[in-house]
Amino acid sequence: MTGKSLSDPIKRIVFAEHKYFVDGQWKVSKSGETLSIQSSYLDGEIGRVQSMTIEEIDAAIKSAKHAQKSWSKEDMKVRARLLRAWATQLVADKDEIATTIMNEVGKTFSDAEKEVLRTADLINFTVEEFLHMSNESLSAESYPHGSRNKFAIIDRVPLGVILAIGPFNYPVNLTVSKIVPALMSGNTVIFKPATRGSISGVKLVESFAKVEGFPPGILQLITGRGNEIGDYMIQHDDINMITFTGSTRNGQNISQLAKMTPAVMELGGKDPAIVTANADLDKTVREIVSGAFGYSGQRCTAIKRVLVVDEVADELVKRLSEAIAKLKVGTPNDGDVAIVPLINEKAADFVEDLINDAKKKGAKIIVGGNRDKNLIYPTLIDNVTTQMRFAWEEQFGPVLPILRVRDVEQAIKITNDSEYGLQASIFSEDFTESIKIARELEVGSVQINGQPQRGPDSFPFLGAKNSGMGSQGVKNALLSMTREKLTVINL
Ligand code: NAP
Repeated sequence: MTGKSLSDPIKRIVFAEHKYFVDGQWKVSKSGETLSIQSSYLDGEIGRVQSMTIEEIDAAIKSAKHAQKSWSKEDMKVRARLLRAWATQLVADKDEIATTIMNEVGKTFSDAEKEVLRTADLINFTVEEFLHMSNESLSAESYPHGSRNKFAIIDRVPLGVILAIGPFNYPVNLTVSKIVPALMSGNTVIFKPATRGSISGVKLVESFAKVEGFPPGILQLITGRGNEIGDYMIQHDDINMITFTGSTRNGQNISQLAKMTPAVMELGGKDPAIVTANADLDKTVREIVSGAFGYSGQRCTAIKRVLVVDEVADELVKRLSEAIAKLKVGTPNDGDVAIVPLINEKAADFVEDLINDAKKKGAKIIVGGNRDKNLIYPTLIDNVTTQMRFAWEEQFGPVLPILRVRDVEQAIKITNDSEYGLQASIFSEDFTESIKIARELEVGSVQINGQPQRGPDSFPFLGAKNSGMGSQGVKNALLSMTREKLTVINL
């Protein structure tokens, strides 16, 4: 459904009213209501999606429950073949899906394209990983007074119907990282994309629907506002597991409502870059600028504060300011720009409030600080203190606060005083120093001499404290969507 030819410099999707997908069919909601989807940088609506009713959601969950019985018994080689075919289809549909991501969430075309290709790799890798997960058997004989006549076969069985809720910023990759391990391990999926990201979700499911052989009901696309239908789905008796990526506020709400339904959550972050006196400043500046400003900082693992020791702070700020001043600002129509408009004006209002709070309390704007609608220009703020909101709140925008610290101990303390604990970077050429700092940090992952990032997708991905619950990454996703089942044999 692309408009101009894809070789046109400006890639546009054609406005459409998109249907939801349940039981292998595209349907219009009986609510008669649709949600308007705006782009972060194009004028006007780019499409509409269905606002589904509770009855329609019930029907989708019922059909997913029904489909799961036979899907879980399907030969895993058949599941593998179909999912690999989906990966191939995604690559074939790459231009259309990437154009949709670009138009909808304002990512550059090349970043959107990378997202699609990375997702195809993720599917193939997940399939292989599952095929190599073998069953175990265990003899009772090794246990004190145990008998060799008792032994157990330990299978991994699917949990049932999995509710997958995704965020706006990686509308394809972060949802497929939930859908594919679920389907490969014999579950069925209720997929609720972020409203701003739901046309990308539609395109993803359109490509799924092109693959011949997937039985109806194993993947259901639900559209509607999270705050209207989310609580209902989370508490539904026939949802057997929840996998969520989004803000900590919504994650905490889900966790309270979910009661005994298992949930894995990837939430917000405030990842620091700790810069020691032993840092290679060229490398440090390169990694910090790319880590903090890519996609305007709208990444959970973006560097969201720099904690630099006084000794090298002046030099670091000077070099950062030079590099940040060179960042390209524009819209995805301008090609490969680092700084694009934020997802909406509300997001820009929030970032502006943080800037104003810091200015009022004595921080110094070194670069930027200005705004045009939802575009925040790349900004470097020095002399941020722990009294300022910027030290603690997740900005999700292209603004980098610098907190100057006496020594690494103070950097460790400020890192750990945060409610978040996703990732942290340490820049030091002294390996022993890096390892000593890494051991003290209360985060899911530490990056030594590199920016925080998710991936490769084969690595575990997790957040400590309010940054998450459970662990993602291909293998962990498969484990979290299955459970052990014992069959004990008594001879
Ligand atoms: P968000 O506002 O929390 O939305 C995430 C999803 O939750 C959307 O699908 C949203 O639907 C849905 N939702 C809203 N209210 C709900 C409810 N009551 N019950 C169930 N679902 C509900 O997050 P976002 O703005 O899209 O994404 C940015 C946030 O995600 C940042 O905090 C970022 O750090 C985090 N994130 C974390 C990771 C990670 O791996 N740790 C990765 C990416 C993003 P609607 O869109 O319809 O409201």
